[in-house]
Amino acid sequence: MNYVYYISLGSNLGDRQAYLDQAILGLKQQAGIISVEASTWLETPPWGNTEQGRFLNGVAKVVSSLAPEAMLQGMQQLEQAAGRQRIIHWGPRTLDLDIVWAETEGGAPLTVATEALIIPHPYLWDRTFVLIPLKELYPHFTFRGQTIGTRIAELEA
Ligand code: ADP
Ligand code: MG
Repeated sequence: MNYVYYISLGSNLGDRQAYLDQAILGLKQQAGIISVEASTWLETPPWGNTEQGRFLNGVAKVVSSLAPEAMLQGMQQLEQAAGRQRIIHWGPRTLDLDIVWAETEGGAPLTVATEALIIPHPYLWDRTFVLIPLKELYPHFTFRGQTIGTRIAELEA
């Protein structure tokens, strides 16, 4: 059975576009990955800890035979390859890859709630820098009874 993962990408250190492009290439090369489709990248102000550089953000749609834990492991390898260092929570980073939403190829939502992995991502529905690129790849996405377009408009109001 294959899964469809929606992965948010973010970078606010160094050559941000190169880190995001490299992450897409890296995802494509991993075992168990069937296809990768990237949104456009958008520049956004920092979130949480606001004393840092602007982010480049986007979302990738990844079809994969990997179960969520294995998918996350591969993503963390790519973060490490990008020289990611975990120093400050929500601090500057070369590359951040988060699974924001996952479902089966048949469209059944996947929920995971372990210490290492929470899907859907707890902030999925609160961040326009996730929702705007997600909408590009998944225009008919709905969550909590609301369409993604309505939610973006609400957050931007
Ligand atoms: P953040 O993304 O919140 O800035 P990190 O990237 O440092 O923080 O991730 C911290 C931990 O979050 C990871 O080690 C991972 O185990 C966990 N995590 C929980 N849910 C997810 C998810 N949906 N996607 C990615 N990581 C997650
Ligand atoms: Mg992360």
